[in-house]
Amino acid sequence: MKRSNRLQNRAIKLCPLSNNPATQHNPTIHDLPEYLQKRIVLEACESKQVSGNCWVWQTSISGSGYGRVDWNGRRYRMAHKVVYELLVGKIPAGYEVDHLCSNRPCVNPHHLEAVTRTENLRRSHTVGSGNGTLTHCRRGHEFTDKNTYAWRGKRICRTCIAMHQKAYNQRKARILVGVNHHPLGSDLFSGNGDYSAT
Ligand SMILES: [Zn+2]
Ligand SMILES: [Zn+2]
Repeated sequence: MKRSNRLQNRAIKLCPLSNNPATQHNPTIHDLPEYLQKRIVLEACESKQVSGNCWVWQTSISGSGYGRVDWNGRRYRMAHKVVYELLVGKIPAGYEVDHLCSNRPCVNPHHLEAVTRTENLRRSHTVGSGNGTLTHCRRGHEFTDKNTYAWRGKRICRTCIAMHQKAYNQRKARILVGVNHHPLGSDLFSGNGDYSAT
């Protein structure tokens, strides 16, 4: 009995839009204005709760992992809400937009569902795909808005980038010092600029 309930729920979840008379037109990415379209990359969805690719937001990701966009004269709007309103309809007052695919940078309206806050909290997808649901990077730096950099729909930790950059610069400085004392001297760096052979 429990199992059949679960199956039934899952069938409904497969595409919340198919149950919505306002969205029988089955929106695609091409229904979006070009300004939004070119900020999205389709990626295979790891969730079995939904069908179709994730529409992964690229250009700006908030510290909490959602896509951000300046839209309609307003800065830093949640990209998935903007897409939802354009392709599905207005988000009812008191409702939040839940990611059925658990991939926060995803803006595919088929993977989104407007639910009450209580329902959203109840679901709280803790097992996420992608890094959308993590609060900290692998080294434990927090994904705040200031410390987060968007790259291909993933969040990158700025503190880690700075660490890598510093280590790289130090390595490079050591190599350059070494070359000055090398019998071949700066010859290594003349020519076609290909250092890989040395
Ligand atoms: Zn998705
Ligand atoms: Zn980090």
